[in-house]
Amino acid sequence: MRILISNDDGIFSPGLVALAEVASQFGDVVIFAPDFEQSAVGHAITIRRPLQYHRVKMISGFEAYRVNGTPADCVAMGLYHLGKADLVLSGINLGSNLGSDIWHSGTVAAAKQGVILGVQAIAFSQVVNGSEPTYDLQKPYIARVIEMLTRGDQPRLVNVNLPLEPAGICWTHQSVRQYNGKVVEGQDANGRQLYWFAATPLTNPDENSDRWAIDQNLVSMTPIRMSLTDDAWLERLNQRAV
Ligand code: MN
Repeated sequence: MRILISNDDGIFSPGLVALAEVASQFGDVVIFAPDFEQSAVGHAITIRRPLQYHRVKMISGFEAYRVNGTPADCVAMGLYHLGKADLVLSGINLGSNLGSDIWHSGTVAAAKQGVILGVQAIAFSQVVNGSEPTYDLQKPYIARVIEMLTRGDQPRLVNVNLPLEPAGICWTHQSVRQYNGKVVEGQDANGRQLYWFAATPLTNPDENSDRWAIDQNLVSMTPIRMSLTDDAWLERLNQRAV
């Protein structure tokens, strides 16, 4: 099995190496990752300037390339370079991607780009608490997820979130909650006004959602579909005269 790995934290992220180490149990691993951090860029693609990729020497000995583009660009470049791959893995992101995070996550976008280009994909993100992650507790779960999702009939795109101390694994749905788009004001060293955007959830997560699973110390696996069409509404709307 040929596995393409990307992320949105950049080519030197410790999470990228951890994911490559687990993935190498399952097949040949090649890394294509952004040459600098691209968190929260969502599914942006680069069309106004040319893309380049360069081989880098990585400590862990994996074949790796840095790309001057977004996470989605990296997967496109990687699949172009390889000709084909059997699986795209993205992560392990430094921080969870739960609920509405899926909309702006570069980690999930890299996986999505794999699916758009015809390859099954899994996004991995992990809760952070300020200290350097070791991934020791998470690696067996990552292996189990890859093993499970590469056998038989499986969803094409799965968003996986890992707690700091995993105690189990479960299927979840995306938590959809209302947020307050809090804007925090400040000043820079030159006295110029600046702003930070910080969204805070207003309601508690519902049971069996991705956010609920992480609160229970469970590894969350959410199958994601590519179609954004609201099928229930479309059916209702089709009963009406336009
Ligand atoms: Mn990130």
